[in-house]
Amino acid sequence: MLNYLGSILKCTGCDQQFNFDAANCYGYYSNHSSNLTTFSDINNPLDDVTGLRHYCEVDSIPLLMSPCWCLHCNTATFIERLPDIEQYMKASALRRLPPKKARNHHIYDSLLELEDTTFALHYQWRLQRITAPKCLRCGNSAYIAIDENKKDTGITHEECWNSPIECVSSPWFSMGHIRTSCYYALDGKLNWLHLDGSAVISCMTDHPCQADLREAAYAIIRKDTAPALDVLQSLAREGISAAITGLGGLYQTGMGVEPDGKLALHYLSKGLAAGDGIAAVNLAGLYRFGATGVDKNEEISWSYARIARKMGIFLY
Ligand SMILES: [Zn+2]
Ligand SMILES: [Zn+2]
Repeated sequence: MLNYLGSILKCTGCDQQFNFDAANCYGYYSNHSSNLTTFSDINNPLDDVTGLRHYCEVDSIPLLMSPCWCLHCNTATFIERLPDIEQYMKASALRRLPPKKARNHHIYDSLLELEDTTFALHYQWRLQRITAPKCLRCGNSAYIAIDENKKDTGITHEECWNSPIECVSSPWFSMGHIRTSCYYALDGKLNWLHLDGSAVISCMTDHPCQADLREAAYAIIRKDTAPALDVLQSLAREGISAAITGLGGLYQTGMGVEPDGKLALHYLSKGLAAGDGIAAVNLAGLYRFGATGVDKNEEISWSYARIARKMGIFLY
């Protein structure tokens, strides 16, 4: 697999390469931490049947990430980068000054240019966030930061007599996999994934299986889809609607499985019948974009979008 940042890590002993494999994950912190049904209809993205995503991005904080070596995943990956709280404090003061004066402090420009409500949301989130940064691949916090500008990563390859792992440049830039947008609660817990902008995999439920759903979602992020399928299938057999819908989402997008529109339709219809509104969101996406065995159909897509809306999930 090609690398996202243009650098790869390489063991000086055995030449094994380690790539930053969270490549196509885009992350957001969302202040909707309880469930997906609390969306209201401000910001009507009329042009987008999968407005759930659109809405979330408008009201979410983009997640910054830094390259690291995760001691839990034991591979090169990304850690959250929590913005410096002092910058917010200074920016907060500078924002009260006339724009001309404020603009002289160029390092704060990005914080000075935010809308008031967005700035308040970001600042409030940063003040509330006290937990350590988490690996975006597994959710753990033990890691070694990697400076890509330095050859020496400070990591060694244990299996090869602790040979140093070095940072070497690579001419490639990876694109073209299924794009995964990840939405985290303000405390850094994974809430849901949006695969390719068309299917939502949610791990938010009041049921005790929430931790299992979250594990499955992290496995999908790691592209380790076999265990994710196992978990979702076994929870689906117990009748957990979020898992049934999640399975549908995997077949809908072909994430870790052969894309299969008919199977997606089967699971999503079942999820919807079990009362999961996210299934209606995914069905709207399925007919909006089409899939193997299911033709695009705007009319059906909109009808599912309306069902989702009735179930309290913002769509369009
Ligand atoms: Zn080695
Ligand atoms: Zn990890």
